[in-house]
This record gives sequence, C-alpha cells and structure tokens, in this order.
Amino acid sequence: PQLFGKQRRNSHGLNLTDPELISQLQQMLDNLAFRHWSAAPLLSGRQPAGVAQPVYCPYQQNQIVGSVINSKAVDAEQALSAAWQAYPNWRLTAVAARAGYLQRAADMLEARHLELIALCIREGGRTLPDALAEVREAVDYCRYYAVNAMQLFSEPQILPGPVGETNQLGYFGRGVFVCISPWNFPAAIFIGQIVAALVAGNTVIAKPAAQTALTAMFCVQLLHEAGVPVQVLHLLPGDGPSLGRILLNDVRIAGVAFTGSTTTAHVINQQLAARESAIGVLIAETGGQNVLIADTSAHQEQLIADVLQSAFNSAGQRCSALRVLFLPEQSAEPIIARLIAAMQLLRVGAPTDIGVDIGPLIDRQAVAKLHKHVEQLCSRAKQIFQIDLADELQQGCFFAPTLLQIDNLALLNSEVFGPVLHVITYGSGQLPQVIATINASAYGLTLGVHTRLQTVSRYVQQHAQVGNVYINRNMIGAVVGVQPFGGMGLSGTGPKAGGPDYLRRFAVEQTVSTNI
Ligand code: GLU
Repeated sequence: PQLFGKQRRNSHGLNLTDPELISQLQQMLDNLAFRHWSAAPLLSGRQPAGVAQPVYCPYQQNQIVGSVINSKAVDAEQALSAAWQAYPNWRLTAVAARAGYLQRAADMLEARHLELIALCIREGGRTLPDALAEVREAVDYCRYYAVNAMQLFSEPQILPGPVGETNQLGYFGRGVFVCISPWNFPAAIFIGQIVAALVAGNTVIAKPAAQTALTAMFCVQLLHEAGVPVQVLHLLPGDGPSLGRILLNDVRIAGVAFTGSTTTAHVINQQLAARESAIGVLIAETGGQNVLIADTSAHQEQLIADVLQSAFNSAGQRCSALRVLFLPEQSAEPIIARLIAAMQLLRVGAPTDIGVDIGPLIDRQAVAKLHKHVEQLCSRAKQIFQIDLADELQQGCFFAPTLLQIDNLALLNSEVFGPVLHVITYGSGQLPQVIATINASAYGLTLGVHTRLQTVSRYVQQHAQVGNVYINRNMIGAVVGVQPFGGMGLSGTGPKAGGPDYLRRFAVEQTVSTNI
C-alpha cells in the first residue's frame, strides 16, 4: 500500500529524548562492537577470493572493524559484462516489480537499523543521531523513488495526434549505470543513488568510497535479499582511479551517478566524453563553499544555534555544511564572542558515547589536510579560536572545531571539508557585493540567511546562484521529498536527489507513433 502516492510517509526514526530507548540502543550497540564485518566484490552474488585488508575505526585507530577484499581489474570486467547482459531483461521488468524491491528494502532497512547504525558509527565515525538520520534517509529514498517511478514510468504518456494515429511517450533505463558514492553518507547516499538507477530500469555497478566498503557490502546484500536480482546489481569495493579507468572508458557504461569532490567529477566527465560511443550521462553532486549571511535584524540566539549545527555537526563533513559566516560589522564582535562561548560547550569524542556532539574525521589524511589549511591561513587571519581536545583523543582522527576570522572569500579557493568555520564581516549596504562574491566563487550548493526582513531574504534568494537556500534555520540535513538536494555550477549537475525530477535523468525516452 505504501507504493501508491498519497500514503507515502518519511520514516519516523527513533525518539532520542527517551532515556530508556537510549540505554537499550547503547546496550545493543555495545553488543555489536565486537562484530568483525567484511566486504568483497559481489559479482552476480559471487565473492571472488583475494587478500583481505584491515579496516580501522576512525575514532580508535588501533581497533579493527572488519576487512575488505579490494576489486581487481578482472572483477571490474566481470561486473561490466554481467550488468550489460542483464540490462535488456531488467529494462522490460515491470516498474511495479522494480518498485516493489525498493519497498521491501525500505522495510528491511528499518527492521535491521541497529546493524546499519553500528556500521555507520564504527566504520564511518558517525554520531548516533547522524547514523539514525542516515538510516531514515536511506529508507526514505527507497520509498520516495518507488512511488515516483510508479507515477512516472508505469504507463506511457498518451500524446495528442491526428485521427487514425496514436502517439505515446515511454521511459526506459539507459543501460549500465556506475554509482560512485562518498564516505560521509555511507548508507544514505550509497543506497539513494543505486535505488534510483535501478528503479528507472538500469543495471548497476556500485563503487563505494574506499573508506566505507563494509557499510556498502551490508547495503548491497540487503538489496539482494529484498529481491533485486544479483545479475542486476554488482559491488566493486576498491581504488577509485584504477577502477574508474576500466569502467568509465568502457562503451557499455551508459551513465554515472557521482557524489564527491568537484575535481573527481571533472575527471569522470572527461573520461565519459573521451569515449567514441554513445554519449554518457553524468549526474554529479559535488562540493560547496557554503555561506550563511546574517544581517543586523537576525535573532542572535537562533543564529548561534544554527551556525553551530551547520558548521560543526557531522564534524563539518557534509557537502551542505556552513563554511563561511558573513556578519554585519556593527554586530560582529558580540556574535563572535557568543559563538566562541558556545563552541566551548561542544563535546568532541568517540561517537559510541551518546552525549558526544562531534565525532572524528574519516581518516588521518583528512586531519592532516585541515591542519595544513589552518596553518596556511593563520598568518592572514584576524582571529583564531580552536577548542581544546582531550589527550585521549590522540588515538583517533579528531580535529578541534575551529573559528577563523578572515578578510575575504578569495582566501578560500577550494572546499574545506571539516569543522572549520570562517567568519567575514561586511559593511552596511554591501549585501549586493557579498552575493556577488559568493556567485563569483562558482560553487552553488547551500546558502543560509538570517534576517527578520523579508526584503533581505527575498533579495538573497533571488540573486544567489545556489541550489538550496535556508532562511532562519540551519542549512544541513535536507529531507527526502521535502528539501530536494543538490547544487549548480561547481557544486553539481542536478537533478536534485530526493526531488521529483531525479529519476527522469536516469531514463531515456521513446516516442511511438502508430498509424491505426
Ligand atoms: N544532503 C546532505 C545534507 O543536506 C548533504 C549531502 C552531502 O554531504 O553530500 O546535509
């Protein structure tokens, strides 16, 4: 019954203010902490043998979470030919059957949420609220795209024409899709891309981020158990560039769904374009240099709360996260002072502790990159504040939430992926220049505005070239079907994930005109 339109509801999740539930969750997560997870290529459901590499926990680098057998060139070849062979049948499988698998997967994800939460925490370093939100988002993608596919693809559209002729427009999968997903949403984005491609009639080769192959393995096995035929969905954990070279140069690939860095999106685009074959499609959701603009009318308490969440939740490891806060010169000083005071209350630590606000970064390279960024900006920053980290956190990939006051946006030439907030002040009447600098950065993902003046919020909304505008609220955690998510310019190609136009891009159209 959930398949058909009006009854669809987003997943309700769990009530994290209920202390009894929290202690049950904690208990169950403690029990799962000793499980050794594993991942390997899954080729038509088969796992080839290979040497397994250990996977270390991001918050306790001496703990092994599981092990991964990475894909070899021959595995990629096998995935390609199996997905290619399975496509003609899958293309003609009834949409209701394809949508039914998604529906079943959603139910199974809800039923097995604890395992997935445990994996997201232990492998991905997600906090408990983030891991829970991740399961909900994955469930929502399955149900949303199932309903959407039924509405869009069940029956061809009947078009007008002269007497004696019928005209129909039908939708079909494009072919073999490669889904390349990031580690920061190891379940939600991973599943969202795959189920969209599948339900639209494509066969899929999933290439998860190297850091989160265990979560990917769990999700693909669950999708197979939900009924998705093993010939239709294959998993290739392993090194992105080398697998990419094999897959993306192959003429059998019809398209790529990618979430990750802008640089990698450009590489994929070039690889697809270089093939002398059918023109491949790229659906990319990439980085952002996301700004929040507050004016003098902003409600300061709300602003502080929303800035903290937007900049530091998930340790700033979201494409949507706030990177640059623009404050009016007149009120900047007290707001910065309050922000610093509020930052001191943030708890950084291992996400197994339910009271922790900010967990680890994904790996040591990510930590080193942020240290380098802060060092480089130090001499040019007007003010720097960094919260103190407890000594025992040395065992993990932690980075202290940091505030840097700088002069202008041009000092940031690439995405800073972590808990670093840059603050810039602007003078009265300079809002148009602020918007012009944001647009000049060429990124266009999220943007926040805090103002009690409608003229200001409307001006910003109309002039800023970004995909998601958030007014007087935080700017993260887009909800499926509520805030379709995705950017423009350097931030992505669209269409938006969790929005009504997403599935169409995974499909080709066929017009049939019949003389009767
Ligand atoms: N959709 C997520 C959000 O709204 C961000 C996705 C990403 O980081 O790629 O926070």
